[in-house]
Amino acid sequence: MKEIKSIAALAARFSTLPGVGQKTALRYAYAVIDMTEDQVDAFCAALKEVKSSVKLCSVCGNFTDSDVCDICASRSAKKICVVSYPKDIAAIEKSGAFDGVYHVLHGTLSPMDNRTPDDLNIKSLLSRLSGVDEVIVATNPDVEGEATAVYLARLIKPLGVPVSRIAQGISMGSELEYADAVTLSQALYRRTSL
Ligand SMILES: [Zn+2]
Repeated sequence: MKEIKSIAALAARFSTLPGVGQKTALRYAYAVIDMTEDQVDAFCAALKEVKSSVKLCSVCGNFTDSDVCDICASRSAKKICVVSYPKDIAAIEKSGAFDGVYHVLHGTLSPMDNRTPDDLNIKSLLSRLSGVDEVIVATNPDVEGEATAVYLARLIKPLGVPVSRIAQGISMGSELEYADAVTLSQALYRRTSL
């Protein structure tokens, strides 16, 4: 059977999404064919809306649809938990084990991929440190995450702010976003100073 161009094109779009293989992408494309016009319009509008309304919190770098995110606006900034990506905040929030604020680096240090400190949201972290009791580094427990944690500790500790690292309850090489709530809260609770 000759492939229908528009179906293949839509499937190719879906396959660019994380975790979507070619088979699933094709199933999604067929699902769109089964939608009503209204449903397709709503789908397109939701895509556009997310792109136009979601931006980065001017304080912490989390996703928000206002200038400052809900967490920064409502919590004490005595403890700052540093994460690599906004999705990591969602995972930690689900554990309910942390009641401070966050800071999103938007990446990790990686000499292999030429990602240097200048590529990460670090400068604004340093400008937030006055009056802070502790910085907890919750980057992934892999080589890049560890290197990032050590780098931050070297930078922040001389400024008189204690820096700690989440415990290795999360197994080495795994990703924070997939850790369950109990493991994450244990990792936070048993954090060690750097
Ligand atoms: Zn924020």
